[in-house]
Amino acid sequence: MNPTSSFLVPLRLPTPFAVGPVNVYLLEGPELTLVDVGPDTAEALAALEAGLAAHGHALTELRHIVITHAHPDHYGLAARLAALSGARIYCHPLSRRVIAAAPAELTQRYAWYGEWLRQAGLPEPIQAQLLELFRSLEGQRGVPADRLVELNDGDRLPWGDREWQALHTPGHAQGHLCFYHRPSGALLAGDHLLRGITPNPGVEPPWPGSSERPRSLIQYFQSLERLTALNITTVWPGHGEPLYDYQAHREELSAFHHRRADEIAALLDGESQTVYQLTRCFFPQLQRLDLFLGLSEVIAHLDLLEAAGRVSVSAADGVLRYQLTDEPHSAT
Ligand SMILES: [Zn+2]
Repeated sequence: MNPTSSFLVPLRLPTPFAVGPVNVYLLEGPELTLVDVGPDTAEALAALEAGLAAHGHALTELRHIVITHAHPDHYGLAARLAALSGARIYCHPLSRRVIAAAPAELTQRYAWYGEWLRQAGLPEPIQAQLLELFRSLEGQRGVPADRLVELNDGDRLPWGDREWQALHTPGHAQGHLCFYHRPSGALLAGDHLLRGITPNPGVEPPWPGSSERPRSLIQYFQSLERLTALNITTVWPGHGEPLYDYQAHREELSAFHHRRADEIAALLDGESQTVYQLTRCFFPQLQRLDLFLGLSEVIAHLDLLEAAGRVSVSAADGVLRYQLTDEPHSAT
């Protein structure tokens, strides 16, 4: 054991995405561990190499790479780092299909998204544009199956100087994991909790064995609720600065989402609308990835309203239309 090793070392890497830089975390100890890796760009790789060097490490020393969730700003470099260092890549089983980029699974995934975009009422050219975008963001460089290890809820990361526990926290992404260090109350939160940003409740295909699309915002609230049982002192997020008051942050998030659901319900005061029409009303300017995030945001709040009995959904020609229900409801 290295007596001078740090508890955790945050490294900030550039990304080409609107969210700005991503935080990855080095856990020093007998076997060097990195939590998240940054996007698959030369700039991020150079910044990671420089960040490791500043703490006396080389890329080739990495032994374990842990991925909080399968979004390109967090896992993009995983395949290159696995090849460079021989490190194993750890992720939740629901992240695996994206990180491994197995062609058959990706084909299934994009077929599902194609159908969902059609049901959401998008014009065909925009459906095609979004599917093309997904293909360009995912699956460019998959991690070979023999380097991938699945991490499930409750599993422990035993290789740093301190033991972290994996917590499955679906919502922002279906395979999202947070990591908790019980003695200090530190939480490596990925994009589950971010200062000044509301994590997008991303639309994703059903889990294996299910035919239902996961209701990501409802799951997100469950994941937030679950963390209240922990004694969290510091949240180390995937973007931006740490957070220190988990309970206050959680209450703000809950208030924000219920307000947003009310705003979306107000847009439905009249005839029924598609997810695309509502998204265009709410966010008229969004294009490409931002449009997809807008669609996710709207459907997630419609799910919340539907679960509260405030809206109902009907299908016409394969397109879903949402309308307010007649019964009065006081809260979402
Ligand atoms: Zn992110």
